[in-house]
Amino acid sequence: MNRVLVPLELDASMPMLGAQAHCLDGQTMGTTWQVRWVAAGASPSEMVRVAVQDELDLVVAQMSTWLESADLERFNRAPAGTWHTVPEAMAEVLAAALWLAEISGGAFNPAAGALVNLWGFGPSPRYTDPGFAPPTEGAVQHALALNDWRALQWQAASRQLHQPGGVRLDFSAIAKGYAVDRVSRRLSGMGLPHSLVEVGGELRGQGLRLGGQPWWVDLESPPTAPGQAPLPTTRVALHGLCVATSGDYRRVYTHDGARWPHTIDPRNGRPLANGLASVSVLHTECLWADAWSTALTVLGREQGLALATAHGIAALFVQREPDGRLTETLTPAMKELAG
Ligand code: ADP
Ligand code: MG
Repeated sequence: MNRVLVPLELDASMPMLGAQAHCLDGQTMGTTWQVRWVAAGASPSEMVRVAVQDELDLVVAQMSTWLESADLERFNRAPAGTWHTVPEAMAEVLAAALWLAEISGGAFNPAAGALVNLWGFGPSPRYTDPGFAPPTEGAVQHALALNDWRALQWQAASRQLHQPGGVRLDFSAIAKGYAVDRVSRRLSGMGLPHSLVEVGGELRGQGLRLGGQPWWVDLESPPTAPGQAPLPTTRVALHGLCVATSGDYRRVYTHDGARWPHTIDPRNGRPLANGLASVSVLHTECLWADAWSTALTVLGREQGLALATAHGIAALFVQREPDGRLTETLTPAMKELAG
């Protein structure tokens, strides 16, 4: 059985007659990006590339943890007791991240950078480096003390952020989605309202693709255990809609037999071990799809389902049961999209 998800509101404006499909791709944020769009024959590919690169570069220049000159990294290295003017885009992401941190009880935490680095998911050392060893209990406790987002004083009106000392911001679970939104809006602003934008697996579809169909996308599903039939394919019409998936089956490392996904539970300072194989979130804004997918992954199926339901979030949970079988759970908003 397969599942088809279609947004509740449809916009009927079609690409003009004689339009053509276009595609560009490249690399950013340690991953790949791809943009597809539909436009009249001689669509200015070079102009699109420059515009896309411009948006991606802005996000990286402000929010990368991999670039020493990024505003976020400068904040991370700043001495205790200093105030910093946060650029506009970073401020927008910070405000969203702090809100989600608050309502998820710190399951989503934009100040978890010290923990992320400790477990080898930051720039250096990487868990893939030869000889990398998981941190000691003492090191975890030390990093845990530094991951309190509530210790950040944030004055939104003047975009002033206070570094209490040693707090490391990490926007990696939200910045890709935000970048997708920016690229998509930039294309619309250039008179290209029919596009599918992807950064590292997070997607946003606007308008329609060639032939008047919506941008259909199949959700990534984790591989099932031997003996279990594959999960149903979930096909989504990304028509004014975004999707992001967090999963424990990508970027996982094993050490002495334990599995460590790259998502940390900032509440106990350890990589997740709640059996969630993946969480996909559909949302009209990719920033929220991206951030919610991480928040719900950390919360786990029961708490995650309750919070997502309370906030009307469309989410699909795939749980790895103790016997290795995968089971799916949909929030009410997700069921509504499935018709
Ligand atoms: P996924 O696609 O699995 O959601 P993302 O790339 O969106 O993964 O986010 C994972 C990254 O977010 C990690 O590499 C780390 O930098 C950061 N991160 C890890 N745990 C958390 C957390 N609990 N809250 C916020 N950011 C996190
Ligand atoms: Mg994410």
